[in-house]
Amino acid sequence: MISMIKEFRIRTTKSREVVDITNRVSECIKGVKEGICMVYVPHATAGLIINEFEPNIASDFVAFFEKLVPKAGWKHNVIDDNAEAHLKSGLVGPHALMPVSEGRLVLGTWQRIILCDFDGPRDRRVVVMVR
Ligand code: ZN
Repeated sequence: MISMIKEFRIRTTKSREVVDITNRVSECIKGVKEGICMVYVPHATAGLIINEFEPNIASDFVAFFEKLVPKAGWKHNVIDDNAEAHLKSGLVGPHALMPVSEGRLVLGTWQRIILCDFDGPRDRRVVVMVR
């Protein structure tokens, strides 16, 4: 069984930001015909979702996570004041899975792979593996 693993970096520019990384992931899977693609972020304050990405829903996602998890009131804040970023990351999860068929990621018309940075700006690693 052929398997492939690659990595790229995304530099976020805001404290809370969602970034469409679909094209970068597609570049990584070039040459792979069929398989299961796992995209993974090795971070405790970031995560991945697959969803629509246009400016309004992108900012809605940021606002949604802000409403869902208040910033204050968490024990971890005494350490580095970013508990809500960890909690959002835990909610979203660090990976996204999708099939690869005929050399392309199998995504719906409106689906994009979206990196969520809950504690930026930072240099974020994205690992792409196909098996
Ligand atoms: Zn922390």
